[in-house]
Amino acid sequence: MPFSYVSHLYCPKCKNEYSPKEKHQLCECGSPLLVAYDLERLKDNLSPEDVQSREPNLWRYHELLPVEDPENVVSLGEGMTPLIKMPKLGKEMNIQNLYMKDEGIIPTGSFKARGAAVGVSKAKELGVEQLAMPTNGNAGAAWSLYSSRADIKATVVMPKDAPVITRNECAVAGADLYLVDGLISDAGKIVGEAIKAWGLYDASTLKEPYRIEGKKTMGLEIAEQFSWNLPDVILYPTGGGVGLIGIYKALNELKELGWIKGDLPRLVAVQAENCAPIVKAWNERKQESEFWPDSSTIAFGINVPKAIGDFLVLEAVYNTNGCAIAVDEDKIVEEQKKVAQLEGSFICPEGAATFLAARRLREEGWIKENETVVALNTGLGVKYPNTVDIEVPILERNGSLTKK
Ligand SMILES: *Cc1c(COP(=O)(O)O)cnc(C)c1O
Ligand SMILES: [Zn+2]
Repeated sequence: MPFSYVSHLYCPKCKNEYSPKEKHQLCECGSPLLVAYDLERLKDNLSPEDVQSREPNLWRYHELLPVEDPENVVSLGEGMTPLIKMPKLGKEMNIQNLYMKDEGIIPTGSFKARGAAVGVSKAKELGVEQLAMPTNGNAGAAWSLYSSRADIKATVVMPKDAPVITRNECAVAGADLYLVDGLISDAGKIVGEAIKAWGLYDASTLKEPYRIEGKKTMGLEIAEQFSWNLPDVILYPTGGGVGLIGIYKALNELKELGWIKGDLPRLVAVQAENCAPIVKAWNERKQESEFWPDSSTIAFGINVPKAIGDFLVLEAVYNTNGCAIAVDEDKIVEEQKKVAQLEGSFICPEGAATFLAARRLREEGWIKENETVVALNTGLGVKYPNTVDIEVPILERNGSLTKK
């Protein structure tokens, strides 16, 4: 049995095909490339029970991942994050079956570890020695750390406003790190020039085909954790949208394998009101988004003014009867506190945005009371210590407490 059932790369726009044995970035036509697997053959050789008997990390799905030689796997034990019921929060929102898929519980503290684990492993397999990428912080942190483990040199450019801890993660890993006084789109332009000039491997979102394969495993895990009976709604905080495209891809692959049946969950792209290009495109029933000028949000991971895979995000939302929703900036931190106070989880602002979106969609009746709803928390609240403003009484040495 081969370790991977990868067959080829294909372009979702012009249908061109490429070999997974050579380095490829975008298609000739400028579109991201996606990975195809020989699912017909895999169907006869793998069952859900086989997968369930393996180690609880994302490599348990190795047949559906692009790394062909297990020797090339670069792993810190990522994946199989908890799926947790949120009964008190659900009760308050009037959603009986509200769950959180908690991606804070993963190496590097954000789900970017999934993309980095698979992306860096495949880069190693392809003989990459040096890669470069723009980032809003978490991806740079994860790729820097995994690259160290793989003996690959990483060059990272991030906005100077990105969470400070992610900067430290890149630096401690020994990456070649730069800050830019601008947005991720500005960082992207600078990285693009260096890549052209120096011939580096471009690890930008969707400019290499494998990061999405790592993120796809969130969809595989959700299906497995629900015993292959899917939830009704999955909400995802959408920046580049790779996770959402990945979840959609994963569910379609499981469907082709015959492991899941029926309608796919309605996928919801959650954005913040001051950076909502996908939501605007969805409202206008467009197939692509436009650049969102002067974007800003405390949920830094979703501050992406124009996503290269926007057409794939929109396709996933349209094809699952999902929706796209922009949440109030001022309410994100309030929701973050609610989740901590009711359920004991300190989630990241991006994750809080998904709960806020669930709340809004329930109020509007788009989510029904008895539906099963999964909100993705994409990272640890601990990575963003400054989002929470607190006032703590300071005592004199001989001070005393006030009874409450
Ligand atoms: C990157 C990031 C996102 C957005 O992920 P995409 O798949 O690029 O849309 C959401 N939350 C956090 C914490 C992130 O780091
Ligand atoms: Zn193409």
